[in-house]
Amino acid sequence: MKSTIEKYKMASRKEKILVACSGGKDSTALALILKKNGFAIEALHIDLGLGEYSRNNRDNLAKFCKENFIKLNLVNFREEAGFSLLKALDKCLEKGESPCSICGPVKKSILNRKAREMGFTKIATGHNLDDECQGIIMNIFRSSPSASNFGPSSNPKKDSGLVTRIKPLFFCAEEDVRKYARMQRLHVSGKICPYSVNVYRREIKNRLDVFEKKIPGAKNAIVKNFISVSSRFCKKERELGRCLKCGEPSSGETCMSCKAICKAVSLLKERRQRIK
Ligand code: SF4
Ligand code: ZN
Repeated sequence: MKSTIEKYKMASRKEKILVACSGGKDSTALALILKKNGFAIEALHIDLGLGEYSRNNRDNLAKFCKENFIKLNLVNFREEAGFSLLKALDKCLEKGESPCSICGPVKKSILNRKAREMGFTKIATGHNLDDECQGIIMNIFRSSPSASNFGPSSNPKKDSGLVTRIKPLFFCAEEDVRKYARMQRLHVSGKICPYSVNVYRREIKNRLDVFEKKIPGAKNAIVKNFISVSSRFCKKERELGRCLKCGEPSSGETCMSCKAICKAVSLLKERRQRIK
């Protein structure tokens, strides 16, 4: 992780880094390694309000941060987004739609806005080698290699309103992060989100694990090769404007987060009408 930070000039020890902490093993391990290596970090946790799963994550993270002298910023999804994620995701599942299409963009927007408002220059996320490798294969199979968002570090324009995102665990295998979390006896539950129904990603993950066993280093090679060729087909990033609804950075009139909120609100309206 240290060599990735250095090679990609991700961060210096003088700047403020906000670590997006879900309470899972990757982001918790990331926070600990950054802290141990002298980076000025704070943690931000978005409480999704998804029952026991969210309560466990929040409590584990609070304990971890207290023990490691890391300031924890808690944000409540419902207060920020104005709707109950739990009810919206239940409705999504009922209709056979992807819960992550609502949760993901709203979380991302909250994280960026909070980091910017609190004066952080970097947002660190716990994406690991396996996540990145799965993403590459999934996008290739869907013939949408979105190279513009790919890489260990984003590079937004200065006045775009976007805070630079860094992924220090980009070249760390998930299994190694898991071992590290065990060795450090981190308080993590290991449970996956109850709304994570992405069977496609899981299938890709299982197949990549089989390849990795047969050809050790396969995942690393896929990611490194993709980095070396991605600049050739990377579409030029579109100029970012501002969302007409919320004022956050957006490539269209309405940002992805506002679109997701609109969708959630209409799903919840349907739900209320049915209950009546
Ligand atoms: Fe949200 Fe769960 Fe999907 Fe993650 S897996 S984006 S927490 S619904
Ligand atoms: Zn918006």
